[in-house]
Amino acid sequence: MDERGGERAFAAALAACRQEGIALTPSRRRILEILACEGRPLGAYDMIDRVAQATGKRPAPISIYRALDFLLENSLVHRLASCNAYLACGHGHAAQEPIVFLICEVCGEVVEATSESMRGALADLAAQAKFQPRAQVMEVAGRCRTCAGA
Ligand SMILES: [Zn+2]
Ligand SMILES: [Zn+2]
Repeated sequence: MDERGGERAFAAALAACRQEGIALTPSRRRILEILACEGRPLGAYDMIDRVAQATGKRPAPISIYRALDFLLENSLVHRLASCNAYLACGHGHAAQEPIVFLICEVCGEVVEATSESMRGALADLAAQAKFQPRAQVMEVAGRCRTCAGA
């Protein structure tokens, strides 16, 4: 993502916070800004490096994980289990909303997607099993349009 795209994503995330009445401490805000501006998944240790670059002080991993837990709970950030990394979400959707990550294994681009038919299919599937979903996140690995064309 270019710099402007990152600023837009960060602005969208902040707007979502205001709307939901979510208070961001400076450290939570910084983590959200780093992820939004990056526009691609970052691991926790990459984030420690970024914070150290920005502030000149190396934060303890626990403080990064605490900030990430808060952002995850409030659906401002998603965790990608397959690459153990975090990604900012500017979509302002509910935490239980079904989402699919399309992850390019070549360039690392990640696109967050959802669809009405997938939502319906998952709701049916859970209802049949009398299952109450808390998180519905799918990760699809492959090649993005650019890398598939190359
Ligand atoms: Zn999202
Ligand atoms: Zn790609």
